[in-house]
Amino acid sequence: ASGYSLLRDPQHNKGLAFTEKERDAHYLRSLLPPTVISQQLQEKKLMKNIREYQIPLQKYMALMDLQERNERLFYKLLVDNVEELLPIVYTPTVGEACQKYGSIFRRPQGLYISLKEKGKILEVLKNWPRRSIQVIVVTDGERILGLGDLGCQGMGIPVGKLALYTALGGVRPSACLPITIDVGTNNEQLLQDEFYIGLRQRRATGQEYAGILHEFMTAVKQNYGEKVLVQFEDFANHNAFDLLAKYGTSHLVFNDDIQGTASVVLAGVIAALKLLGGELADHTFLFLGAGEAGTGIAELIALEMSKRAKVPLEETRKKIWLVDSKGLIVSSRKESLQHFKKPWAHEHEPIKDLLGAVKAIKPTILIGSSGVGRTFTKEVIEAMASFSEKPVIMALSNPTSQSECTAEDAYNWSKGRAIFASGSPFDPVEYEGKVFAPGQANNAYIFPGLGLGLVISGAIRVHDQMLLAASEVLAGQVTEENFKKGLIYPPFSNIRKISAQIAANVAAKAYDLGLASHLPRPQDLVKYAEGCMYSPIYRNYR
Ligand code: NAP
Ligand code: MN
Repeated sequence: ASGYSLLRDPQHNKGLAFTEKERDAHYLRSLLPPTVISQQLQEKKLMKNIREYQIPLQKYMALMDLQERNERLFYKLLVDNVEELLPIVYTPTVGEACQKYGSIFRRPQGLYISLKEKGKILEVLKNWPRRSIQVIVVTDGERILGLGDLGCQGMGIPVGKLALYTALGGVRPSACLPITIDVGTNNEQLLQDEFYIGLRQRRATGQEYAGILHEFMTAVKQNYGEKVLVQFEDFANHNAFDLLAKYGTSHLVFNDDIQGTASVVLAGVIAALKLLGGELADHTFLFLGAGEAGTGIAELIALEMSKRAKVPLEETRKKIWLVDSKGLIVSSRKESLQHFKKPWAHEHEPIKDLLGAVKAIKPTILIGSSGVGRTFTKEVIEAMASFSEKPVIMALSNPTSQSECTAEDAYNWSKGRAIFASGSPFDPVEYEGKVFAPGQANNAYIFPGLGLGLVISGAIRVHDQMLLAASEVLAGQVTEENFKKGLIYPPFSNIRKISAQIAANVAAKAYDLGLASHLPRPQDLVKYAEGCMYSPIYRNYR
């Protein structure tokens, strides 16, 4: 290859960091200015540039440009500045990028598979230049974050998630494949938008929808084998549960909105037990919101409770109550409930509102997963604080505007007694001279490590025991010092270490359950996981 094309190949380009020897050996002389600089200096310069942008979307675009120009440098920035760049590459900024994807679109990333490719999906998968794929993140764009149907423009999500698989979990970038399945959109504004990049038709449903998804899942297994992880991302709940159930027995599939959220929230709850004292089964849970997040979390908590207390799942589920848009989920509503809500329809009289439900159920842990902001009112928090010394309040809805309450509200209204965590980040809060640092129940704690664990063990199925294993590791990473600040999650700065621990524990489960195909089982799984992780440090080209 010529030096000129080397500079235009993002996987190999090092820009001014090409050494004198490399410049000689690879025909780069005079294609670069004479200075040779280090990767550290390049990083410093880029971070300076990025910090000068006032608008988050500009930072996002600068990062995407870098990813297309110099992949290792992009990941170096991400690894070294996780806390600062996570909100850019992922929520909330990625949401805005998806909304404007049509107009900021420059070069396609990943694969777009639309209804036009029906019957040819296996063929188009072969258009992707890489053959050995380990992780696919796929969306149909119907429920992008809390922003609704963004159709084909949802592509920003798989791209962002996979960047985190690499930066936080160490999966090689060349083994990652973002995919958007375009079955149309019901977003009128996009259908009218002259810059819209997707199919201009309303969403395919029923047989037609199931058909293209089935063709896709079949083609993926045929082309990449049994060990490729397919992560479903931001599908609407009327498809998400069904897809997971349908393909969970034949493919290595994972839904981050259901399972990843569940695992990260369970980790926070387990960690909170250290502050609360007592056992998991001593607690009563109430959820506002009974969709993918709410019922997914509820099920995993019930499972962990059942495992710990050695009580059947049907019993532990009774400690968990959910409220949806129609009120408390109770047995008299059973007939009309969506199937994923049915396990939570317990005996009780109907209650319409959250405050009424809180007063009747007297939960010790309250979890918001409704997507509706400011629903944890002063009365709700005060009621929570009236029946426990340390009420746990988790306001998970994203973005920040949709959070069920702010950190400040939770601490003020509970008189500084709440253990609070949220989906979107909040700044530390001072209450009566004490500073509380609210934790973030961010899925990025779990999925990169979980994915790495599946990849390194060659797992062929995801099992709930693996999700529990991931939660237990994460909960165990919270230190005394973190607890003192009211945190129930560890800081993100150690995430690669945490991911390796999670990966090792998940891989161990895969081996124990007979689901691992990478044999023999490595002796020290933590060491093995660390050794497998992609490093963004430049390589020498000889
Ligand atoms: P979803 O499947 O659409 O579920 C939303 C649920 O909220 C439904 O059960 C809905 O009731 C209920 N709901 C809506 N409005 C309500 C109201 N006014 N009062 C009571 N309940 C109401 O959505 P999802 O995927 O679960 O996501 C929900 C939220 O969780 C989003 O904001 C998302 O950003 C957040 N989330 C956070 C994390 C995290 O922090 N790590 C992870 C995932 C999701 P019906 O069933 O009656 O319609
Ligand atoms: Mn999601």
